[in-house]
Amino acid sequence: MVYDYLIVGAGLFGSVFAYEANKIGKKVLVIDKKNHIGGNVYTHLTNDIHVHQYGAHIFHTSNKEIWDYVNQFAEFNHFINSPIANYKGKIYNLPFNMNTFNQLWGVITPEEAKAKIKEQQKKYFVENPKNLEEQAINLVGLEIYEKLIKGYTEKQWGRDCVDLPSFIIKRLPVRFTYDNNYFNDTYQGIPKKGYTYLIEKMLEGIEVRLETDYFRNKKELDALATKVLYTGPIDQFYNYKYGLLEYRSLTFEHEVLDIENYQGNAVINYTEKDIPYTRIIEHKHFNFGTQPKTVITKEYPAQWTKDKEPYYPINDEKNSSIFMKYKEVMNNESKFIFGGRLAEYKYYDMHVVIESALALVKKEFGKSID
Ligand code: FAD
Ligand code: UDP
Repeated sequence: MVYDYLIVGAGLFGSVFAYEANKIGKKVLVIDKKNHIGGNVYTHLTNDIHVHQYGAHIFHTSNKEIWDYVNQFAEFNHFINSPIANYKGKIYNLPFNMNTFNQLWGVITPEEAKAKIKEQQKKYFVENPKNLEEQAINLVGLEIYEKLIKGYTEKQWGRDCVDLPSFIIKRLPVRFTYDNNYFNDTYQGIPKKGYTYLIEKMLEGIEVRLETDYFRNKKELDALATKVLYTGPIDQFYNYKYGLLEYRSLTFEHEVLDIENYQGNAVINYTEKDIPYTRIIEHKHFNFGTQPKTVITKEYPAQWTKDKEPYYPINDEKNSSIFMKYKEVMNNESKFIFGGRLAEYKYYDMHVVIESALALVKKEFGKSID
């Protein structure tokens, strides 16, 4: 055995684990089938602008340990995510807050806003909401649902809101303050030099082989290491023996524009169904950039097939029960360990991925972060 650990996947999960293992003297090899490190958080410089290749990535957490952890690798800026919704040419602030209620109904005080929402909820209130539509109307009433939720959600997931589980929108805050911060977390920001720099720091001094697909050479690669951490799709690892896990995919259309400022905000969501993309991001605004040109990305939801990138797991009953079968065999492995959004089949934010990787570090090496 040449290595203590073979790590399949140079995304956030694999990189955190690699850093911690290397730090305590383990010999580590990291491989990735892509031609770059970072997985989904990969950024690259175009016209001096850090481009988030796979969609907007804003780091947020309320866990001070995790915030300190990422800050040891890179300096973060003070970016606060304040997306805007464009519905039929009119602009609304997100998440749903006093600014949104004022734009919709002209209300000024929280009391007026609550009364208006109550009036909107009353007609359609359902005792035990069974799907996303019922949950959304219960939460914010019919008008917000129709203008800001229904079209966006149906595009994003490719299904009617009545056929979607309600937990999807539980992430969205509703506030009776004039506060456009999309997240409720204590800490938030974006690495000033991009996410790739952060991952480079984690992988410093570690052997990394890119454009190396684990499954092309599994036997030889497995033979190189005592243990293997696998962060790719779990159904593929087991040759789909319990069935295919489904995802929602995305297509990103990047454009360089010869203007300084295209939309005046980092993220604008297009909430009507007829516009095929869900959002446009303008990368320079993540870093308060003043470059002469700009780069924008349109994000189109797409049906997932095996040859497409898996982005969002479909955590419905059917897929969850398939995953549970994989989970059972995963738990019984000794050479192989697993982690990350693809192997755990979870809609994971970055801070949770790091928490999960550090929990695995603790389990493997019996230590916590220092
Ligand atoms: P990945 O980044 O997917 O890494 C897995 C790696 O394994 C990949 O590089 C892949 O190429 C490699 N791999 C897979 N199979 C093989 C194989 N057979 N051989 C070799 N290598 C292989 N989180 C936030 O906190 N804030 C946000 O604003 C945010 N925005 C997001 C926006 C979008 C559009 C998406 C899709 C996700 C967003 N996330 C956000 C979530 C974030 O991207 C993930 O939490 C994080 O990137 C997951 O890291 P990971 O290492 O688990 O997975
Ligand atoms: N959502 C919505 N309207 C919006 C933004 C989000 O209805 O303008 C809903 C949609 O169902 C989406 C969910 O809220 O899938 C979570 O959105 P978020 O932006 O948190 O998800 P992301 O795609 O960034 O992970």
